[in-house]
Amino acid sequence: EAAEMSQQFTASKTKQKKKVAIIGGGLSGLACAKYLSDAGHEAIVYEARDVLGGKVSAWQDKDGDWIETGLHIFFGAYPNMMNLFEELNIEERLQWKEHQMTFAMQELPGKFTSFKFPPNVPAPFNMAWAILTNTEMLTLEEKIRMVPGLAPMLIEGQSFIDKQDELSVAEFMQKYGMPKRINEEIFIAMGKALDFTDPDKLSMSVILTAMNRFINEADGSQTAFIDGNQPDRLCQPMVEHITARGGQVLTGKPISSIEVNPNDNSVKHLILADGSIVEADMYVSAMPVDIVKRLIPKPWSTIPYFRQLSELEGIPVINLQIWFDTKLTSTDGLCFSRSPLLSVYADMSTCCEEYASETASMLELVFAPATEAVGADRNWIASSDEEIIEAALIELQRLFPTEIGPNAPDGGAQVTKSTVVRTPRSVYATTPGRNKFRPSQESPISNFVMAGDFAAQKYLGSMEGAVLSGKIAAAVISDKANGKSTNGPREVHSSIRNNNGEGIEP
Ligand code: FAD
Repeated sequence: EAAEMSQQFTASKTKQKKKVAIIGGGLSGLACAKYLSDAGHEAIVYEARDVLGGKVSAWQDKDGDWIETGLHIFFGAYPNMMNLFEELNIEERLQWKEHQMTFAMQELPGKFTSFKFPPNVPAPFNMAWAILTNTEMLTLEEKIRMVPGLAPMLIEGQSFIDKQDELSVAEFMQKYGMPKRINEEIFIAMGKALDFTDPDKLSMSVILTAMNRFINEADGSQTAFIDGNQPDRLCQPMVEHITARGGQVLTGKPISSIEVNPNDNSVKHLILADGSIVEADMYVSAMPVDIVKRLIPKPWSTIPYFRQLSELEGIPVINLQIWFDTKLTSTDGLCFSRSPLLSVYADMSTCCEEYASETASMLELVFAPATEAVGADRNWIASSDEEIIEAALIELQRLFPTEIGPNAPDGGAQVTKSTVVRTPRSVYATTPGRNKFRPSQESPISNFVMAGDFAAQKYLGSMEGAVLSGKIAAAVISDKANGKSTNGPREVHSSIRNNNGEGIEP
């Protein structure tokens, strides 16, 4: 399906070449430009920062070490991303790990347990096998009591999942009689990993969406790390692809406003922060939802399509990198720390070629939830770097009891350097009932299209969601250019349409 969609761009070389201005050089903006270039259009990306990638951006410190915005995991169930790697001829940059999910044991410091997916066994049997053969985390009775909640998903699929979007994880579990321990053992870890939040704030559709992909695709839950920093290893090949086809990718070019034509509300031009004007045939927003909201021109602010954006908001998260003076004993892959402040982490000196070291570990850790609003004990995102690292190290002592902290021999591994990167508004918060407010890529404005991981597509806010969203946005433009009819913008939910807009932030 992903490859088929890609082929439509190359196959339908346009009769009417369009100049398209894309605001934002994250994965959605770059993917949009890539596919527009394939279809023969001239795509120009305007990225505000000096570095590409947005939430996957990274930069070098004075020692030449890469500081990343986030620890990023690629899943087998990312068809559009995998297809993109193939098209760019960079598949070998994905370092696939053994197919298993590794969790820290809560009561046993330093002990881990894995759900191992057997090779060459089709889905969903490989997952059933993985769950049934792990006897350390859930009892057989608990596993059996998961079935009534998960069976309808197997039978009904996506439509069942969509219906669960209004329920929180806790409400869903109660409805289907799932034992509390499944939450403590599995769902807390999943919520923190997928949406940086505790499950009482999370829509059940998030957990089910991930599980459904894992159940339906044999390799769905297999994980890969990219072999180095994303700006070089993934963004740069896209830039080369775009520029080779006549497009441009510009950094340090923040758009400060979108100007509209008074007669039909269409975009007249964009204004850059330096005052210069950008004119194009079509315009794409590939900005995060929190920024788009601020840039919506006044005349659009009463249109329901734009008003629904007020229902979406990015969630805070913090990414840590901690360098040690020795090599820790760690697995070659992602671990769920299952501790109050940390979510997933990996020893990048083992997992990632560019950061490899035989003698010293670099742990990259997602710190979540990061504020009280999403379930943290305090407003960590406003805390100092020192406080955050200190709190993380206390949790690391539980994960590495014989190697980190006062109980380790000779005082244990010493921290040589650490970094804290805060993203106050990352992926949109998937609290219950958000799906219906995700805007379609096609908007009611004739020359304006919306990309971004939050926009409507079947994946959550993720790298796959961003790539697919950029691709759908490119398809809308390419279809319009070829005179093909499009689906039209998705109908806005009645709660927005029936509200006259008073009291709603534009
Ligand atoms: P963004 O990456 O936010 O890109 C938007 C771009 O627009 C930015 O570059 C921004 O600078 C630019 N911009 C904003 N305003 C303007 C303006 N006025 N003018 C010009 N440019 C502008 N996903 C996964 O799939 N797996 C993971 O393991 C994973 N882990 C994550 C860990 C962390 C800590 C974080 C923060 C995210 C993680 N994600 C993960 C999510 C993933 O990174 C995002 O879903 C995806 O990268 C979003 O891409 P995007 O293009 O939609 O938005």
